Amino acid sequence: MNNIDYSFDQQHLWHPYSSMQAPATVFGVTSASGVTLTLDNGQQLIDGTSSWWACIHGYSHPQILASMQQQLSQLSHVMFGGITHEPAIELGKQLLALAPDNLSKVFFADSGSISVEVAMKMALQYWQGRAASDKSKILTVRRGYHGDTFAAMSVCDPTEGMHSMFGANVAQQLFAPAPQTPFGEDCSANDTAELAQLLAKQHHEIAALIIEPIMQGAGAMWFYSADYLKRLRELCDKYQVLLILDEIATGFGRTGKMFACEHAAIQPDIMCVGKALTGGYISLAATLCSDEVASGISNSPAGVFMHGPTFMANPLACAAARASLKLIATGNWQQQVSAIEAQMHRELAPARDIKQVKSVRVLGAVGVIEMHHTVDTGKLQQEFVKRGVWVRPFSRFIYIMPPYVISAEQLTALTTAMLDVAAISA
Ligand code: PLP
Repeated sequence: MNNIDYSFDQQHLWHPYSSMQAPATVFGVTSASGVTLTLDNGQQLIDGTSSWWACIHGYSHPQILASMQQQLSQLSHVMFGGITHEPAIELGKQLLALAPDNLSKVFFADSGSISVEVAMKMALQYWQGRAASDKSKILTVRRGYHGDTFAAMSVCDPTEGMHSMFGANVAQQLFAPAPQTPFGEDCSANDTAELAQLLAKQHHEIAALIIEPIMQGAGAMWFYSADYLKRLRELCDKYQVLLILDEIATGFGRTGKMFACEHAAIQPDIMCVGKALTGGYISLAATLCSDEVASGISNSPAGVFMHGPTFMANPLACAAARASLKLIATGNWQQQVSAIEAQMHRELAPARDIKQVKSVRVLGAVGVIEMHHTVDTGKLQQEFVKRGVWVRPFSRFIYIMPPYVISAEQLTALTTAMLDVAAISA
């Protein structure tokens, strides 16, 4: 039965990247279970998005629900200033057990964008504590995406992508060219040349380099060379610049490794995680840093790290994350992701024969068909719904990042729909 008030939605509710004058079609979802979303008309859709890359174990997972329900009945929220609780402490332990060895401190943030802001603030305060407060700029690469808040936007590509319209208001950081060498190849000196020059010339004013490791997501859906990332680590060491890795999209197995930096066998000084941290059940992110970064911050004039959100370390979110990380630690995500990868390689390959298709790329549980042209998101989304799947293309990309628990048959339904829709997308 249709009980969703679509006209109120259209008149009063903003959706992500939407217009209130010409609202896009939205689909009313009434429940979700496993890999399936149920619409208010009863139609079931196989989800190819993991709800923006977060819901890795599928929806309504009994262990995550039980953990949240138990927590809800005990303590749903309490401030984190001057107070602590078991969900935060135990989650911190689980997170540090999975994270690169050198990371030892955890700051719980409310969302991915905020964890990026926190990382940037940490870098600036660190250099104040090391008596080098001129080091206050952040270096990044083009085609990156790190979130929608102002400082996070300042390290997104200001010339293309979703934040280009804010132009000079946010583009105060330093930009090097995007990495060109694809994943699986050694990178040429050309690929890092401009970045190396920038560092050589301006390192005295650069606090940190921030980059999405291995996969440039919302800005490019591009997998780049692990060798490139390794060179970036070397350059940061050489010029005393902190390396911030934004693992918000890649963390917790998405590219086939627990964290994408493992492809390059490197460790960051600061790392951001979010999205799949709670298995996609509720908002929570975290910024992890090394002892060295924490000690520099303690040495800064403020003496403390100057950030403290109202809902920091929300116990309910921590309970969801604890259950999700337990599923990761005890489950078989690696086999699931490599089976998804192999199947997408096979089933998306025929898209290369479609005239409008520029390239097809697969890494871990990410499958991308890049078109020559910008696609009509709304129109293609409707085509996908007609085919019983949920896929949300953007820019030139028709892509999927399904939950790891997807079955081979469900995945085939997604890849078949992608080939079909790519062929009719003019
Ligand atoms: N960083 C990366 C790499 C992302 O992909 C995203 C979101 O897509 C963000 C940061 C922002 O996260 P959030 O939407 O939770 O603020």
